[in-house]
Amino acid sequence: EYILQNDKLLPKKDAMIHVDDRGYYFGDGIYEVVKVYEGKPFAMEQHLTRLVQSSHKLDIKLPYSEDQITEFIHTLIEKNTLKNGLVYFQVTRGVEPRNHLYSRESTPVFTAFTQPGHSTEDLQQNGIDVWLTDDIRWLRCDIKTINLLGNVLVKREAADHNCQEAILHRNGTITEGSSSNLFLVKDKVLYTHPATNLILNGITRQLIIELAQNNNYSVVEEPFPVEVLEHADEAFISSSSVEITPIKSVHGQLTTTFPIGPVTKDLQKKFKELLPRS
Ligand code: PLP
Repeated sequence: EYILQNDKLLPKKDAMIHVDDRGYYFGDGIYEVVKVYEGKPFAMEQHLTRLVQSSHKLDIKLPYSEDQITEFIHTLIEKNTLKNGLVYFQVTRGVEPRNHLYSRESTPVFTAFTQPGHSTEDLQQNGIDVWLTDDIRWLRCDIKTINLLGNVLVKREAADHNCQEAILHRNGTITEGSSSNLFLVKDKVLYTHPATNLILNGITRQLIIELAQNNNYSVVEEPFPVEVLEHADEAFISSSSVEITPIKSVHGQLTTTFPIGPVTKDLQKKFKELLPRS
């Protein structure tokens, strides 16, 4: 198995990270996860656009152009003969002696690896149980940073309650999942949190909104309180790795159940049509 370290392809066991990398001390870096179908990275352009946005927001200079990164990723997928799975890539601010204050002199470090896919088809068919809990993250959730402690803690909390995802609320307003966006359906209208600093604007979220609107569903991007969960007809999460996955039950600070409904199924079917085929 090969990984990319800057512009070099190396066997994973030969890759070395400098202990003074700011990614290691501070989680000072950004990343993307792209799903690979039949050897083809899906929505690569959108992911690169978001990487560039994250880099501007964190004052990190990307070491390569979007075209170069795309080329590297294609090379890596080929080298690892990855058919279905995902590709992860990150950029840290680089190496300098540990200091909260960064200098703007360090050279960013690029790392990428692939992972063969474990199928999420079963979850997409049968749905998941989710755990409703406080959104304990910072106020710049719009940045796709490798600093993910808030997300990591709530994911563990959800798993400890036999749930596959944590759904978060900030002072009673639902934001998103620990590694996904949330959609509710009521009377064939879709509801999701607006793309503010309080959520990560998922590429899958953006594709679903466009897909829904093109198919005559209304989409309301407004904050809503947790109580709305009790009145929704259907609910689902979205992300690159799980696509559209229905929620069958909510536990924790509120308890409710959902059927896997017609709107979710219709969007799942239409989303699959966007994916690369062999
Ligand atoms: N929200 C959070 C916090 C995430 O970590 C992710 C992806 O991992 C998403 C939303 C979904 O984003 P995307 O659809 O771009 O994968």
